[in-house]
Amino acid sequence: MFSRYRYTWNMHLDTPLKNLPRVTSRYAKVLEKLELFTVRDLLFHLPFRYDDFRRTVALSEDCLDQNVTVEGRITRAKNVRTWKKRLTITEVFVEDENGNQLKAVWFNQLYILDSLRVGTIVRLSGKLSLDDTVFSMNNPAWERAARDATNTGRLVPIYPETKGLTSKWLRWQIKTLLELAQDMPDVLSDEIREKFHLYDIFTALTQLHFPESREKLLRSQKRMAFQEMFLVQMQTQKIKKTWSGKKSLPIAFDEKLIQGFVKKMPFTLTDAQRKATFEILKDLEKPKPMNRLLNGDVGSGKTVVAAAAALQAISAGHQVAIMAPTEVLAKQHFESFCELFKDYNINIALLTNSYKSIRHPEDGAQSDEESASGNLKPNYNKALDKHKADSSFRKSGTQNDVRKELLKKISLGEINLIIGTHALIQKDVTFKNLALVIIDEQHRFGVAQRAALQQETADINDGDKKSIPHLLTMTATPIPRTLSIAFFGSLDLSILDEMPKNRKPIITTVVAPDEQEKIYEFIRSEIKKGPASTRGDDRSSTRGGRQAFVILPLVEESLSESMVDVKAATQEHARLSEFVFPEFKLGLLHGRLKPKEKESVMHKFKDKEFDILVSTSVVEVGVDIPNATVMIIENAERFGLSQLHQFRGRVGRSDLQSYCFLFSQTKSVRLRALEKTNDGFVIAEADLKLRGPGQFFGLVQSGLPDITMENLTNVKLIKFAREEAAAILSDDPQLKKHPVIQDALQKFSDKIHLE
Ligand code: ADP
Ligand code: MG
Repeated sequence: MFSRYRYTWNMHLDTPLKNLPRVTSRYAKVLEKLELFTVRDLLFHLPFRYDDFRRTVALSEDCLDQNVTVEGRITRAKNVRTWKKRLTITEVFVEDENGNQLKAVWFNQLYILDSLRVGTIVRLSGKLSLDDTVFSMNNPAWERAARDATNTGRLVPIYPETKGLTSKWLRWQIKTLLELAQDMPDVLSDEIREKFHLYDIFTALTQLHFPESREKLLRSQKRMAFQEMFLVQMQTQKIKKTWSGKKSLPIAFDEKLIQGFVKKMPFTLTDAQRKATFEILKDLEKPKPMNRLLNGDVGSGKTVVAAAAALQAISAGHQVAIMAPTEVLAKQHFESFCELFKDYNINIALLTNSYKSIRHPEDGAQSDEESASGNLKPNYNKALDKHKADSSFRKSGTQNDVRKELLKKISLGEINLIIGTHALIQKDVTFKNLALVIIDEQHRFGVAQRAALQQETADINDGDKKSIPHLLTMTATPIPRTLSIAFFGSLDLSILDEMPKNRKPIITTVVAPDEQEKIYEFIRSEIKKGPASTRGDDRSSTRGGRQAFVILPLVEESLSESMVDVKAATQEHARLSEFVFPEFKLGLLHGRLKPKEKESVMHKFKDKEFDILVSTSVVEVGVDIPNATVMIIENAERFGLSQLHQFRGRVGRSDLQSYCFLFSQTKSVRLRALEKTNDGFVIAEADLKLRGPGQFFGLVQSGLPDITMENLTNVKLIKFAREEAAAILSDDPQLKKHPVIQDALQKFSDKIHLE
């Protein structure tokens, strides 16, 4: 199939792409942006879908509106300029074996004409249509019929779209380079491949780029998924091994202390909270590091559990760090922990990039940057209010001084509990005796980044490499069991699958377009009702009635907001303000607002300056708004169940009855699952079955290819991969006998980046 001593004669898998004669420096730059540096990288740049142009047909009306391939001789070819639209149209007529004519049309690609000379026999692939009475194709893929089928007449690979890089160009490159994979060392041994009927790597890559059939394609995808899973398992097991070989400070479980703390709570713990607390405190007693994930739905009460662990570590004389993904969340934790520990002699500091604050219980004061330069607030509650009202400190001379002062206090061990964003463990912060790190919403740091994060956590104690901190991670995304098996092999798991008893389940209803008016009426009556009762941790204002959220989906599915989305949100905000709720005040939150503006909108909502908050779906509201009891989610059919469940978790944060209305354009049976249950774990499992695992956590950004993600629900495959990985590691823990796996693991973890 391949002839050597041609283009690739002096190349190998590690040849830099920029050295290839066919890769100009412009292309090399684009490839670099995609992190494709070597031939090997390019060969692993896999298509994300395929156009099926396998049906070669004679022109016929039966094939209209179908993807087909037509072969024929060019009878006419010309470029036509339409000055009005500033377009150049290339028109080529092709005659098939029966003498029927096909008109192929391309826009603004005049150079095509150079290759499409009259008399040439070509293959054209695309959707067949009729232009008047003439068969036609717009922008078909084409190549000379004498050529090997690469872009037409087959399953044609489509690569993820990138500016400056077409799929056609990639096919051309990859096709010639593929032969270099013939000698590629295989991560999966002959033995494993035989056992599970898996293709070797060369066959798999060849079939993935240029599949001969659907079946061969699927087999290749399965092989790659197995390999990825194998590497994930290898990595998590290695981490677990290394982790358990390290030392941590054992922290004795002081039952009296913990019971005293729990008694102070204005509620009794759920059984799940008790069990999780116990599991964590037991872990802390060991001289090896805890590495545990606390998984519980929004509102399941993870904070108290974490606080019990923190209290235990601090009482034993150690420092504790709590890390949150955003400043808003960090601040919220700071407030919660100040409240939770108000009766204890614990110094708490908030450390984020824009704000630093310290609370000293001994003099009953909380100081912020001003006060750190000698201006102590008379009491902590007032300071908290100030903190809330003016949480946007700018960088200034004093701020740097405060930072220095704070860092000094941390390094001297004068601060017991440090709360912040992940700047906390990456910057110039040194701890005196950090014994426990708690990471909230860890999924927001990305799943695969976990490994890197753990490494960081392991290295942060001030030069004392003898012991590393215990690690507790928390996530509010209920993780289906199969996924946790696949991904969290290196972690112990505590699950809060029980909601506090006082919680009323959120009443959820799917609403058809003609019922929306009724719901608006209902919301009016809710907003006019009395406010939520004030709970211990609820310092929100109590003026006026209840509040509502309106959540809008993005206009087009993407990860960030475009101006189109902002416009749509602005219009919906205007429509609701003017025509639906003219008697109320409506706020607007979207992703294009500056962080400070976002925060200001949220705080205004919290302070009840708005009755209704209209928000795009990508904005994290962050702050708790217990008084918000109603939520509308527009075009709910566009979201996954888990995502909808996460949204509705923003209401139902008090003992008041809350409501969630799923406005839907379609009669979606899927959405009804949310009417039936409030159990996030049940919903997560359902969602996993319906839409696959991609939407859980930051899997999309984890660097794992789509095909692996699709196979993540394949429990058997995961189980096999895990067993094989375990067998190899137990025989050869350092992978000395398996350099290929060692190498692949290295590359695998190199793919993983911290945000
Ligand atoms: P999350 O798991 O989302 O972090 P929180 O820890 O913030 O949840 O708890 C949500 C609210 O529930 C808080 O106001 C907390 O005080 C309260 N809470 C926690 N545990 C219980 C319980 N067992 N009974 C009643 N309320 C509880
Ligand atoms: Mg929380």
